Amino acid sequence: MNEQEFNDIFKRIFNENRLGRFEPFSGVFFRLTEKLLSSPVNVTAIKNTADIIALHYADSLLGERFVPDNSNCVDVGSGGGFPALPLAAVRGDIKMTALDSTAKKLTFIRAAADHCGIDNIGILHARAEEAFEKRSELRESFDCVTARAVAPMDMLCELCLPAIRTGGVFIAYRGADGMNEFKTSKKAIRILGGETAEVYDTKLLSESGENQRYIFVIKKIAGSPDMYPRKFAKIQKEPIN
Ligand code: SAM
Repeated sequence: MNEQEFNDIFKRIFNENRLGRFEPFSGVFFRLTEKLLSSPVNVTAIKNTADIIALHYADSLLGERFVPDNSNCVDVGSGGGFPALPLAAVRGDIKMTALDSTAKKLTFIRAAADHCGIDNIGILHARAEEAFEKRSELRESFDCVTARAVAPMDMLCELCLPAIRTGGVFIAYRGADGMNEFKTSKKAIRILGGETAEVYDTKLLSESGENQRYIFVIKKIAGSPDMYPRKFAKIQKEPIN
């Protein structure tokens, strides 16, 4: 597909999703798509350009409005760079760190960012529960944490909320079961020092139809107790709920 054909599809999908304001970034997303489709590392199961635009790029940018100006952000479990790469691409004011426990995915993110000229993103090879444990200097150091498709919401709160400074935000991207998951996460949110600021209930339009999406915006209003995050096996076996 040439760049003009890509731009036409990008424009249509972004306008359908009321994200037309990002149309000027179409060229960056064309280069990112080249990288995704030619990567020797399997970073995404989605191989169709229109689906990549809707299910990776537009989806990642549904949460953009909640990212604070000039914030220091970390995307936990970033995988192939979602939502980290699209957010960094359109928000030159932020500093983004893509954190993942799988090194080869981070190598892809670094190469993709360089190919696309996205210079406000760094990579961090770590497990979230170790990166944000009580002795870590990264703990409670971020203004904003994002996470998409990493773990059930109650577990995710324990992995992410300890990373955020008081006053910062956690932007959790959830799918169709989001509301149920949210109900079982209320205790974790409270115990870890969070308070729900907004529930964004929206539909993502793709070639296959409407996809229910929820974005939970959780404000950090108090420090997280020292004992969290616990070891991953413990979080999994006994999530706070
Ligand atoms: N966020 C990306 C997306 O939406 O396309 C990737 C989602 S992928 C299903 C989940 C990613 O989370 C994987 O790359 C995995 O290595 C990472 N991950 C899972 N648990 C983690 C943890 N405790 N610490 C760091 N990374 C983790």
